[in-house]
Parts: sequence; C-alpha cells; structure tokens
Amino acid sequence: MSDSELDTGQSALLVDLHCHTTFSDGLLTPEQVVSRARELGLVAVGITDHDAIDGIEKAASCGRSLGVEVVPGVEMSCNVNGVDLHMLGYYLDFRSSDVQEFFAGLRHHRSERARLMVEKMRELGVRVSFDDVRAVARGAAVGRPHVAQTLVNAGAVRSVEEAFRRYIGYDGPAYVPKKKLEPREAVEFTRRHGGVAVIAHPGTYHQDDVVYAAIAAGVDGIEVWHPDHNERAVARYEEIAQKNGLLTSGGSDCHGGRKNGKVFLGEVTVPYECLARIKRLAKERRG
Ligand code: AMP
Ligand code: ZN
Ligand code: FE
Ligand code: FE
Repeated sequence: MSDSELDTGQSALLVDLHCHTTFSDGLLTPEQVVSRARELGLVAVGITDHDAIDGIEKAASCGRSLGVEVVPGVEMSCNVNGVDLHMLGYYLDFRSSDVQEFFAGLRHHRSERARLMVEKMRELGVRVSFDDVRAVARGAAVGRPHVAQTLVNAGAVRSVEEAFRRYIGYDGPAYVPKKKLEPREAVEFTRRHGGVAVIAHPGTYHQDDVVYAAIAAGVDGIEVWHPDHNERAVARYEEIAQKNGLLTSGGSDCHGGRKNGKVFLGEVTVPYECLARIKRLAKERRG
C-alpha cells in the first residue's frame, strides 16, 4: 500500500481481534474464519477460542496462503468474587508443552462441568445425556452453547436463548461454574509464556470492581470495542485504559452466528495500530 492510499483514509488497515471457531463454541472452522476475514478485507484476525488453542495453527496456515495475518490467542475464564470474567491472551508460546497441558486441563474440566450440568438437568426431568453433548461439541472445548444446543435437539427448549434463560444462564437451576482461575494466575501464566493479557468485554460484567480487580492483577490491556459495548461503554473503557496506561483492543467476538445469532466476523474492528502495540509488547516480553 502506498502512502497516498493511507492519506485518503480509504484503506485503513482493520483487524478483528476476537473470534471463536469450531475448536470452542464457534460455528466456523478456523479456515472459514480466515477466508471470511479475507473477503471482508481485514488484514489480521485474532483466533481466541475458549481454553482451546488447536485452531491457531490451522488458521495460521490458511492465513499464510490467503495473505491474512493470524493473531494467536485464547480466551480464559477467570473468577472474581463469583463473576465469570474473561481474559484474552495473545501471543503466548502456544507450542510449549506447559501451555498445551494447561489448556488441556481446562478443557478436561469443561467436560466434567458439562457432565454435572447434564446431571442437574436430568434431576429437573430433562432427558439428555452427556454423550449427546459430546456429539454436539465434536471434540471442541465444551461450553454452555453445546449444552444449550443439546437441549434444543432434545426438544426440551425451542432455542439456545431459552436454554440459557431457563436452565444454564448464570442464575439457572442447572448452571455449574467453571474452575476458579484467579485473574492474577491467568495474567502471570500469560506473561510467563511471553503473552499479552487483555480483559475481554469489560462492559458485560455490569460492575467495574471486577474490572479493577483484573487491572490490579496486572493485565496489559482492555478490550474497548466489542458488540456488547455502546458508545458510553467505549468511552468509559477507553478512559480507564488511558488512565491506567493499558493497551486497547477490540473485536467482534464472532461465534459464527451462534451467540445471539446476530454477531458476525468483522462487525467490530480496530485499526492495525492496536495490534501493532500488542505485538510490540509481546516481542519485548519474549526478549
Ligand atoms: P461457558 O464458557 O461454557 O460458560 O459458555 C459461555 C459462552 O456461552 C459465551 O462465550 C457465549 O458464547 C455463550 N453465551 C452466553 N450467554 C448466552 C446466551 N444468553 N445466549 C447464547 N449464548 C450465550
Ligand atoms: Zn463463547
Ligand atoms: Fe467472552
Ligand atoms: Fe469470546
């Protein structure tokens, strides 16, 4: 790209740094995410599955052939005073056995948790089995969306939304929390493996004390731009980032249409400069 193109502002380089694939609860394969990113003209796309990292290499190899930069990432779930706070980790050394074992452990925990949710559902008289959930998840990191789809398939509810509302939402009778990972543990783990830690969708927790707890735990950045953030939330988290000297990030949190059925890849993007800052920090950290 020439400077004159940049000057016209026509080709601002845009990136989407938050996307899920079939390796967690997304509906698109890593290759489909990358192809779609290319169709949309994005220059980079972040692969950030829940506790799953196996989609990264597949996306990266597709990205190399299509000319889309793939940002390696993961979305961890932390627990702050009972609130499920998500933390994005970018550029960890995903090939290290320590990192692979850590996430394998979390995925195992997710399976056992889904098993418990199934048990609770059966106590409530819903006829589903853990094998049904496994069939829906097809080897992915098991999450509530898979459990919800299982309930839909069984005819127990009409939609994924209804499954969350009636059974497995945070206040639902069959909800089981995940393993208690402290923000400090997630941050330290991320840094120790050369990564950059970013608080995901801070506006969705509806209480900033958990956001401040994550900041106190040493995060590097905040996801300012997200489909669940209105203009006020964007302004608020941009200010919090600035006051605390944190990086800013953003993305669509695309689940291929599964989450709320509405959010698609590239719906929220950020300028490449946000990614460049994240990369710079990761590079420094790796020394
Ligand atoms: P888990 O990590 O297993 O607790 O599942 C959390 C995931 O469920 C989120 O990342 C969303 O993809 C999805 N989710 C949460 N709430 C809803 C909802 N009300 N409707 C549909 N999907 C949801
Ligand atoms: Zn999800
Ligand atoms: Fe999340
Ligand atoms: Fe997400």
